[in-house]
Amino acid sequence: MTTLNNAIHESIITIDCNYMFPQFAASYLMIEGDRAAFFETNTSHAVPLLMNALKENHLEPEQVEYIVVTHIHLDHSGGATLLAQMCPNATILAHDKAARHIIDPEKLVNGAIQVYGEAEFQRLYGQIDGINAQRVRIMEDGEKLRFGSRELEFIYTAGHAWHHLCIHDPATRGVFTGDSFGLGYPILNQGSPAFIFPSTSPIGFDADEARKSIKKILKTGAKQVYLTHFGTYTDLEKNAETMLGFIDDMEQILNNAIDSKLTGAGLEMFCLDEITWFFEKELNERGLEYDGLIKDVLKTDIELNAKGIALLAGQN
Ligand SMILES: [Zn+2]
Repeated sequence: MTTLNNAIHESIITIDCNYMFPQFAASYLMIEGDRAAFFETNTSHAVPLLMNALKENHLEPEQVEYIVVTHIHLDHSGGATLLAQMCPNATILAHDKAARHIIDPEKLVNGAIQVYGEAEFQRLYGQIDGINAQRVRIMEDGEKLRFGSRELEFIYTAGHAWHHLCIHDPATRGVFTGDSFGLGYPILNQGSPAFIFPSTSPIGFDADEARKSIKKILKTGAKQVYLTHFGTYTDLEKNAETMLGFIDDMEQILNNAIDSKLTGAGLEMFCLDEITWFFEKELNERGLEYDGLIKDVLKTDIELNAKGIALLAGQN
């Protein structure tokens, strides 16, 4: 395994967690004087890579003060407990609805095992233990956190998930957006305009809230976003416009799915076709094909997005 540790700004290091594919899921290490903080933990399997990033930057695990989890989805939160065990002075920061599952992950883990099966769960996520509630701090919408010379701002951003926070770092004019400002992969930006897209994965997609969250992120005045999947995107006005258009498209697909009156496997197939068609169209407009490595990388997102839309349509 190789790691890709890129300094975006001298104080923020991008760590490639090697989850699913290279450049698919990131964790970010923020260095603030003699302190450090992680934003996103990916899974337990990524923790050695995160520890290695500390070492490469001449930091001891004891210097990690915060471990920030944007939301509870396991490719964001799955490594939090193990990382906190390795970094004894770190406090995990999360939304109220996420914090309870970090402290006691049993329900979350059992739910995921039901979806994936035990073997696949272990392969993807590894061991996830609970943690003493005193190591976890709940962050509120609008709450500010002093971190050395920085003042980080936590922003509640529903739309992808109901337990999602973004973190504004005025020092780098950047926002750690988790999955609230879309997903985008370097492989999709081969000389073409940036392609970032909303995740409608089960079960928290809400178009109105998603639009609100994009506007909240823009309102910070930031000039860049640090996407968990994957990397730094600038030109926020343009990317926000793209995202808002795509959220409308996802809402339209949801409405089409509801109008179809389909149920069960038929409904799932309908959603998968619509979402696949959406991706093919957007890729083609950028001179790319839904094929080869691009198909491999996007397949999971397309299936998850279709599943999320089908679940919502089925509730209507
Ligand atoms: Zn997510």
